[in-house]
Amino acid sequence: MSINFSSRRFDFLSWSDAENASRSKGSTVLWPFGAVEQHGTHLPLATDHLFAERISEEVLLRLADSLPIWSLPSQSIGFSPEHASFPGTLSLSASLLMQLVMEVGEQLSSLGIQRLVLFNAHGGQIGLLQAAARQLRMKCPSMAVLPCFLWSGVPSLKELIPSEERINGLHAGLAETSLMMSLAPELVGPDRHIDGDHFSGESVATPPMGWSLEGSAPCAWLTKDLSVSGVIGNNQDANTTLGEALRDALIRHWVYLLTNLMESDWPPVER
Ligand SMILES: [Zn+2]
Repeated sequence: MSINFSSRRFDFLSWSDAENASRSKGSTVLWPFGAVEQHGTHLPLATDHLFAERISEEVLLRLADSLPIWSLPSQSIGFSPEHASFPGTLSLSASLLMQLVMEVGEQLSSLGIQRLVLFNAHGGQIGLLQAAARQLRMKCPSMAVLPCFLWSGVPSLKELIPSEERINGLHAGLAETSLMMSLAPELVGPDRHIDGDHFSGESVATPPMGWSLEGSAPCAWLTKDLSVSGVIGNNQDANTTLGEALRDALIRHWVYLLTNLMESDWPPVER
């Protein structure tokens, strides 16, 4: 029986193809994670979810057909308590999301899948997915678990996004708005806000001296601490050209990392 590697959706395989696929050397599943949460008044609730899904699809299309990697349907609802005060935000509890990763992960491992990539586009659940990944690896040591964040470690972001916005534009700012203009312009509204403690004239809250929103000494902010509109950043200069450049940079970066992963023999043999 031959496996059709050109179909990258794991759930589009038949059970017998899924069984063969899982047993192939280096079999890998990519699971996109997003959120259904407010993104200001100009971007849809599905922003992070659409980013995880669309970018991972484009990345997988560019990988060699012979590589044994498939994607799961994306997990659209994530862990978003920081946005709970804005209507439309839907969030799972931390324990439920961890349990979801554990239960699905254990089943993939017992099927024979050798690597699971958690491809996440929501900054508020990076730590949670890292903890879930460690716990899953402990339980299923033969399966590698790689929790990654769409925007992390992409070298060319430095040239594309000004440093002020890169550090303090945490939500629905220049990068997210531009990327959405490239991926789904019909979902971008005209009602733009500049907001967040570094941007709005009437600052809502600022972390104590030496502490930061994210980074070295973070303070687990809630969006309502920092922003009235739901935006934390400045998206006034968002444009399609920048969106195309970001899309291209993200795709190139993740094609590179996934190719390296697929060509490696990670995880190490159990000792
Ligand atoms: Zn977002």
